[in-house]
Order: sequence, then C-alpha cells, then structure tokens
Amino acid sequence: MFFVEVLMVFEKKEECGLFGIFGDPQAVQKTYFGLYSLQHRGQESAGIASSDGEFIHVYADMGTVGRVFRSGRGVLEKLANPIAIGHVRYSTSGSSKAVNSQPFFTEYSRGQVAVAHNGNIINASLLRDEYEAYGSIFKTTSDTEIISHLLAKPSHVTKPDTLGHVLNHLQGAYCLLFLFADRIEAARDPYGIRPLCIGQTQEGYCCVASETCALDAIGAKFIREVEPGEIVTLNKKGISSRYFVKQGTVKPAHCLFEHVYFSKQNSTIFGQNVHEFRKKLGKQLAKEHPADADVVIPVPDSGTSAAIGYAEQSGIPFDMGMVRSHYVGRTFISPSQSLRELQVKLKLAVVSEVVAGKRIVVVDDSIVRGTTTRGKMLTLREAGAKEIHMRASCPPIRFPCFYGVDFPTKQELVANNKTLDEIRAFLGVESLGYMSLEGMLSCVSKPSDNYCTACWNGKYRIPVDVPVNKFSMEKYQMGLFEKGEEF
Ligand code: SF4
Repeated sequence: MFFVEVLMVFEKKEECGLFGIFGDPQAVQKTYFGLYSLQHRGQESAGIASSDGEFIHVYADMGTVGRVFRSGRGVLEKLANPIAIGHVRYSTSGSSKAVNSQPFFTEYSRGQVAVAHNGNIINASLLRDEYEAYGSIFKTTSDTEIISHLLAKPSHVTKPDTLGHVLNHLQGAYCLLFLFADRIEAARDPYGIRPLCIGQTQEGYCCVASETCALDAIGAKFIREVEPGEIVTLNKKGISSRYFVKQGTVKPAHCLFEHVYFSKQNSTIFGQNVHEFRKKLGKQLAKEHPADADVVIPVPDSGTSAAIGYAEQSGIPFDMGMVRSHYVGRTFISPSQSLRELQVKLKLAVVSEVVAGKRIVVVDDSIVRGTTTRGKMLTLREAGAKEIHMRASCPPIRFPCFYGVDFPTKQELVANNKTLDEIRAFLGVESLGYMSLEGMLSCVSKPSDNYCTACWNGKYRIPVDVPVNKFSMEKYQMGLFEKGEEF
C-alpha cells in the first residue's frame, strides 16, 4: 500500500495562507476561523502561535486546520490570547513533514519570535550555506528558517530597524508575519507578489490576512493592502507603517495566477474581486474561442466563475455538469491505474443528465500536465457527451514558478511537449482554445506590467541564480544540483 493524495488530481498546488490579529481576547479562536477560510491555500499543515503579552506559545502539526485543532485535543484552549498569528501550508520549499510546519518559533538575544511565511525565498540556500559555514544549525529544510537566523545575527540586532535590514537580505516572494511577545509585524516583498491585507474587527481590533475572505470569516472589514516593500506593525498603539525599500523604486509583480486559480472567489486581491476577474476572463475567452454548443459547464471550483462569464458572453446556457467533492482528503490506496482513475471520479463527479447527448463547452482555469484534464474529458465522454470543446481561461503554462507555486517541471508541462493540435488529440476533444496572454491582461484592474506572468512567458522579474524547487534545500544541501543545471 502506498500513501496517495487524492488532491494530486489537481496538478498545481496552493502555497500558504497567513492570518494574524492583535489585542483581541478571542485572538486564538479568530485565528482558527481565519485559517479555516484560507484552507484552500494549503492543507498539509496548520499552526498558530500566540502571545499573552509576555510569552509566546506555539502549536503546529501536519493536517488541515480542522484536524490539527480538532475539539477534544484542548490545543486551542492552551494557546494564550490576545495576540496570535496562524499559518496553513502547502510545501513549496521543504518537504511535507511536521518539522517544517509553521509558525517557526525561535528564542534569541532579543526575546522570542514566531515567523509565518507565504512565498519562496529564492536565495535561501545560498544564505543557509553562508550561515552553516559559521556553525549555525538549522532544524528544518524550509526556506523560512533562514529569516530567524538573519534576525538573530549580532550585527543585525544592533541596527535601528533590524527587521527592515533583514528583509533587505531576502530575494523572492514573501509575505511574512512576525509574532513578538508584544506585537505583530507584517511584511510584504518589494514586488508584492503574494497578497496580504489589513482589516479591523467590529470591536476595533486590527488583523492581517493573505486574502480578504479571512476578514469576512471573522466579521472584520477590509482596511487596505499591505503595500509592497512595507512593514506594518500592530501593537497597543494601533497600526503603524514603515518601508524597507524606497517607495516607487520597484515595479510591482503581482502573481496573476492568484487571480486565475489560487485565491478564493469572494476575496479581493490586488484591488480586484477574484470572481469578477474570472468572469471577465470567461467573457474574453468566449470572444477569442467561440463554440457551437448546447451547454457551458465548468470544472469546479476554479473554472466556475470563468464558465459563467463564457456563458453570459456566448448566450449558451450554463449548467453544472461536474460536481466537486470537498470532503475527499487523503486516502490509502494501491497504486494501480484503475484505482487512480476512481480517485479522480471521487473528487469530480459528472452529472450525466447535463452532458449526455450534448455538445458541451468545458471551462477550466488551466491545463498543466494535461493528464488530469484528459481524465476529466474521458469521464465526460463516458457520461455521453456528444462533442467536447475544451477552453482554458489562461494561456499555455510553459515555465516553472520560483515564487511560491508548485508546478511540475518544465519537461512535464504538456504545452512544452506538444503542439496545440497534439494537445487537443491527447485530451480527446473536438476543439481546444487557450486564453491569450493579451486577453488575460485586458481583464486586470492595474497596468498590465504590474503583474508577474513568468509561468506563461518566462519573463522572471526577480532573477533566479540558483535552481529553486520544492526540494531545493534538501537537494542543495546534498549537492545534487549541478552548476548550470537546466531549470
Ligand atoms: S510565475 Fe506564475 S505562478 Fe509564479 S508568481 Fe509568476 S504568475 Fe504567479
């Protein structure tokens, strides 16, 4: 028997989610709810660090929020109010194991600190090498741990703004929450790659979260985003702000894939509601790739908003031809092909009555390896679909992400191995249409050069000198990367 993750049927993985709140007598409980609403960003581990104003307490473990903090374990009750930060993780750097669960706790010369991170620090391996050469000992294989070492370095703690100084050593994508005994510091990288926002509860307590859906979950109202290159402090005096890079010197590179796939439909990120953005994508897709069909169906959930837009624009009726089960997590199963196919069906079930005998347009957010999409098309065909017109609401993905999203390797991406017609034949569909990059960028609310589009066009805004992937820390430590290795 092998341990197989049913979620593997989805080929690109969420990254991480952050939540923090200051001063609330129910800070721990609200962090729990905030994390619950961010569960789509990572299901491998969950953790909360909290402070009673003097000491920090941490609990983090493998599993979903509901599992790690399930009632009866008494974990939430042992954590102290009124300051808390929380983290849900999908590993984009470092293996999926308990020691890499966050927040990370450290005691150093200036006291206690817990750190939670969303993103990927691309120079973490190099920094770690440097520190190890001077005898530093690392407990994890996550890129995040280097931040604690940077904070504790004697020549850094004496700087007027230690945190700002430390952040200037980091390259890559990072939204960070630091819990000190008396405050929370929230920081966002100078490119603003991942989202991070500030809210306020009805009682007036300040909070921070990866997405606004977490603010909604605790009844808080959205105040504003943490700006790229900004550090926001939440303490007894309220909220204060400072910048660790000069404002206006770095052009933002917001991750457009957050809008296409990762973020929740009810969230507003980068100044635009996710559902509205995806609907616009669907409308644009219908203009670029019309189809003569009877019904438009989404691959739920990430394809749903775009499918609604496609149906509205084309005038073809929308219907739910596939239903996603939200209750399928991990399962033990033998690794045969037939049982793997059953896994896909368990996660995505077809409503035969909607598709049988029909010419259908299927809208999905993206096509990555192609194998999963092929499985979905096969299931629709088995259910009696007469014609299948596959539409992807983003362009062909051809390049890996080094900024916190776990895609397959470049070689595994179907768009690098096959022509458009070969992909169509591989999927077994009558027609195939991908959104154009220009079309996708016509749907954003900010100037188009404010977004990262590297996984589609290979234009990396932050140079990557050393190959970075989920296992970089392990591989780099073992010397498995050759100089000049292609990535
Ligand atoms: S490469 Fe793609 S997934 Fe990665 S940050 Fe850029 S847009 Fe997002």
